[in-house]
Amino acid sequence: MDVEYNERVKGKKYRCRDCGESFEGVGKHPVCPSCQSDTVDAI
Ligand SMILES: [Zn+2]
Repeated sequence: MDVEYNERVKGKKYRCRDCGESFEGVGKHPVCPSCQSDTVDAI
């Protein structure tokens, strides 16, 4: 019952404003894996 340890990759969900791709980004400045844009929103 140790659900607190059910932590996966330490990434946040982001969505690219340019192409609409959603992805899991790591770090302070995640970059869209699809179009390499850094114009992303956290979702
Ligand atoms: Zn993109």
